[in-house]
Amino acid sequence: MCKVVNLYKEPYDVYIGRAGKGKSGYFGNPILKGKRCLYCGMIHDESGTTLDCYRDYLNKRIKEDAEFKANVKALKGKIVSEDEPFNEMLGKYRSGDRTVFLRALQKTKFSNAIQLDHDDEALKEAIDRYKNIMELLDKSLAETVANDDDDFLRAIKSTEIYVTYNKCFK
Ligand SMILES: [Zn+2]
Repeated sequence: MCKVVNLYKEPYDVYIGRAGKGKSGYFGNPILKGKRCLYCGMIHDESGTTLDCYRDYLNKRIKEDAEFKANVKALKGKIVSEDEPFNEMLGKYRSGDRTVFLRALQKTKFSNAIQLDHDDEALKEAIDRYKNIMELLDKSLAETVANDDDDFLRAIKSTEIYVTYNKCFK
């Protein structure tokens, strides 16, 4: 569930305002008051009147821009933050840093959020899949302990994927 707050009055998870004041405005309303609107072709003179077009813009962009859609999903799941915008993390992931998202999930704020109820089926499934795979691994590791293979155990337990599992689900 998203709740919109006044930036200066309440704490917030993700900035969805316009660009400026050191914020990227990635989720913000790109339609400016007093300028010709790209969506309806009119000029919005009063604040508040751009909101219908902003909603149309968001819906259209979610349909057409897979990356934007992923960002909105992450926003709803509270698994993005402004200290490291999702786009930057995705850039790092694509350039070979395969654990960038796992490391983010190790932060308390996100490892707690992952256990909340999410109204997004795909996100819920992904979280369950991860949890199930890791539980299986965890069980196998418990059997490995009996075989005294300490180095193997230590190596697995120090991987980012295992550390993240511990933080999120234990
Ligand atoms: Zn408009």
